[in-house]
Amino acid sequence: MKVKHLGITATFAAGIAIGAYLTTHESPLVPAAAAQGSGESKQLVSPVKARARDFYAPNSEDLAPDEMRVIACGTGMPTARPSQAAACFLVELGNGDKFLFDLGTGSAERIAAMQIPYNFLDKVFLGHLHTDHFGDLASLYVGGALAGRQKPLRVWGPSGDTPERGTKYAMDHLQKMLTWDLDGRKGIMDERGLSIETTEFDYKGENQVVYQENGVTIRSWPAIHSLDGPVSFALDWNGLKFVFGSDTYPNKWFVEYAKDADLSIHECFVTVPQLIEKFKFTPQTALVVGTQIHTSPEAFGKVMSLTKPRMAVAYHFFNDFDTSAAISEGIRSTYDGPLSMAEDFMVWNVTKDDIRVRMAVVSEEVWPPPASEAPMPPIPSNRIGYSKEIIDGKLDVADVVQPVYDDINKEFDLKEKPGK
Ligand SMILES: [Zn+2]
Ligand SMILES: [Zn+2]
Repeated sequence: MKVKHLGITATFAAGIAIGAYLTTHESPLVPAAAAQGSGESKQLVSPVKARARDFYAPNSEDLAPDEMRVIACGTGMPTARPSQAAACFLVELGNGDKFLFDLGTGSAERIAAMQIPYNFLDKVFLGHLHTDHFGDLASLYVGGALAGRQKPLRVWGPSGDTPERGTKYAMDHLQKMLTWDLDGRKGIMDERGLSIETTEFDYKGENQVVYQENGVTIRSWPAIHSLDGPVSFALDWNGLKFVFGSDTYPNKWFVEYAKDADLSIHECFVTVPQLIEKFKFTPQTALVVGTQIHTSPEAFGKVMSLTKPRMAVAYHFFNDFDTSAAISEGIRSTYDGPLSMAEDFMVWNVTKDDIRVRMAVVSEEVWPPPASEAPMPPIPSNRIGYSKEIIDGKLDVADVVQPVYDDINKEFDLKEKPGK
């Protein structure tokens, strides 16, 4: 187990109780300080009994029926790096539904670390088609099917100003790109996960409903970013509202439709001096990229002051010991409300009464979680196989492989034989 960043990275406004220790998961044990302060001889902290955790361990906590959990599975920039994948946020609801918002480069391994059966990771909402927002789609598509998703991957995303710039075109061509990969898996695995169902919606729709199932409504509105096409999203469920801006320049639609959010995620770029120093940009390029193409920290703060979420989440910057202070200073020059400076594996538990912010502690040696239903055996007749020239190149290893077949046939009462 790797313990990563246990420091509190969220900051809180005065008068708003957020993330108070043990607010959502009470320990049966009496905290030592409380017991000592009471003057009673209650049970003290035991050296051998578990205490409530102040971090999130995947697959270790029930979600209350009225609770939302959001996990940052990518908070960085287009070039993924070990500490930060590109954009991806996982939303889990108390009704069992789960949604992925963007799926940037490197995020699939963060998602894997959450140990969620892949059948529940079948809904992806793309804000736009930059690779830092959908670069790991092929990984979740194929890798998810291999690891237990027994149904198509469902993808929602915006149209473009031409059909070729829309989500449907991207998904159709992604599958074409994967022709060799997908063909090679036919006949040797459960194939039900090897397709994508795409729902493309009008990028110009204003607060339009793009998803409505099981008490969950997801709406989109236009974002301003790079070309026509990008959108931002809001998810409403059970009186809670989650907002995901994806990438956008500050805009009037966000200010109108992101209001009253419980958790509001909006891009916040590194500062212009950091672009010059760290990214080696020219001052001219740094000014344009840092303030005109993307949202500067000061502009992020202005957007949050106008929309007043219960918790503002800044992401899309390299969150380092030598960058976060200047970015935070920029935000604080225009916003004094609750703020999380996002980094990968940050976790928000959201209820009507409380927003608890923690970091997840994950295992790097993760295996596929149990499938939520039994997989189907492969259909051998679907196998495409090799040409004669290639088969003729195989070494004869039947003598060493046959005992493996004998053992498994005996254990599972089968009559399998090595193939060609
Ligand atoms: Zn982008
Ligand atoms: Zn981006």
